[in-house]
Amino acid sequence: MQKFIDDMIETMKEYDGVGLAADQVHESKQVAVLEVADNPRYPNKPQIPLTVLINPKITPLSTETEDDWEGCLSIPDLRGKVPRYRRIRVEAWDRGGKALDFVANDFHARVIQHEYDHLNGKVYLDRMRDLSTLSFLQEFARYAMRPPRDD
Ligand SMILES: [Zn+2]
Repeated sequence: MQKFIDDMIETMKEYDGVGLAADQVHESKQVAVLEVADNPRYPNKPQIPLTVLINPKITPLSTETEDDWEGCLSIPDLRGKVPRYRRIRVEAWDRGGKALDFVANDFHARVIQHEYDHLNGKVYLDRMRDLSTLSFLQEFARYAMRPPRDD
């Protein structure tokens, strides 16, 4: 199990992911890893320390959701706007078997909801309200990332 978790962390980093769920590497286990540290795929996002979640459970702490862009290592070269709860409670075990219980907000909450969905057989496409924002990365970089016009 420890070796498997190490391999997951290595894979996440190798592909510049901010998170990875076990079923993305073909293991039917309730394990997800996440970390954000100067990630070229997600520039200007708050940092998230390396976290291992085993058997995670999430509870929304408000009904408020926010739409923002997501991509996925399992769905290469696409981005889309996905609604996610802004504030969630996360209960899980860490890799040492210690109980975790914390609140995650905004981008941190988004990453955890994305990985939690993987563990339950869903990808972000299943969560999109409509597919009109679904874009290839090249188009996304050209149009969605450009600075706002002055006029
Ligand atoms: Zn994903």
